[in-house]
Amino acid sequence: MILPLRIALSKGRILDDTLPLFAKIGIAPTEEDQRSRKLILNTNREDVQFIIIRATDVPTYVEYGAADMGVVGKDVLVEYGGSSFYEPLDLQIAKCRMMVAALKGEQPQTSVRPRVATKYVNITHDYFARLGIQAEVVKLYGSMELAPLVGLADYIVDLVETGNTLKANGLEATDLVMEVSSRLIVNKASMKMRHQQVTELLSKLRGVVGEE
Ligand code: AMP
Repeated sequence: MILPLRIALSKGRILDDTLPLFAKIGIAPTEEDQRSRKLILNTNREDVQFIIIRATDVPTYVEYGAADMGVVGKDVLVEYGGSSFYEPLDLQIAKCRMMVAALKGEQPQTSVRPRVATKYVNITHDYFARLGIQAEVVKLYGSMELAPLVGLADYIVDLVETGNTLKANGLEATDLVMEVSSRLIVNKASMKMRHQQVTELLSKLRGVVGEE
């Protein structure tokens, strides 16, 4: 039997948008597994398995070869940094924008050192440095929108899809940091050692991307 090709996916938006893509190329988790809390999901194809992990862990699993492939947002990839895997395909799903936002109508002065709350510490440092602004970056793990409301930060850097979350909290986007979508990444050794399996999936996915 061939060793299954392991594909790392993360729960939430990415999983919801990725499973229909894989379904289109004839790969689906078995029904029984989908209902369970299993972290390794078998599929209708003996040679393909999904593993379900946190989005920020996907690059690590793929870099170390614990997963042959992964689906992860460009935001997570840029924050992770480096070039320790291949990124052959933009899946054009889970699209959103990474934005700088502040309290509506109260744009803080940028002449003083602004405090910026985000989970994207590296991206935020680089972004403000490129503008010549030495920002104080405060790392948060969620609910970034709260930070300006309670005086923790002047700005936040976060993902925005509809803008509803910003609006509901009296915030407005001030600048675009980057456009984000989910990417397929491939372990470098898997690309060589399991070339046929990897390229088969890759070309099938390429065929269905952006169809709807
Ligand atoms: P929205 O209210 O539609 O602008 O969505 C904003 C909220 O959803 C923020 O808390 C974001 O962190 C999160 N979000 C938006 N797009 C994505 C995405 N593609 N992946 C993960 N989280 C997202």
